[in-house]
Amino acid sequence: MSEPSSRPAPGTSRPAPAAPSSPASQSGDLTVARLQRRLAEFASARDWGQYHTPKNLAAALSVEAAELVEIFQWLTPEESARVMARPDMAHRVEDEVADVFAYLLQFCEVLGVDALQALSSKIDRNEKRFPTTGTGHSME
Ligand SMILES: [Mg+2]
Repeated sequence: MSEPSSRPAPGTSRPAPAAPSSPASQSGDLTVARLQRRLAEFASARDWGQYHTPKNLAAALSVEAAELVEIFQWLTPEESARVMARPDMAHRVEDEVADVFAYLLQFCEVLGVDALQALSSKIDRNEKRFPTTGTGHSME
């Protein structure tokens, strides 16, 4: 069995909610490890693991990030700031966020990268690299 060429859904088939809501209200019982396990089981059940090389997953991640950018491509800054107030647009944004996150988690799993630790370490480095000036602006 091969992964469909029309680009498969990288995550589960569970539909996104009809309207945006607080992330905390929906993700309270979710963990990165649990989501990675579900993604691995989803791919394994379809024999897609053979395609999930680091190269392919990095490419898929880039494509999904571009799909997120495409939503905002011709919007004004003001329109982009209000995008989640439009249910049709909010659904598309959430769908692409899920695709990006799914491929990022799968990429991290195949390479053994702890995404949360990597992010925490990066924030630590950036806090040292860009110290605050006390004005709220670090680029002065
Ligand atoms: Mg997508």
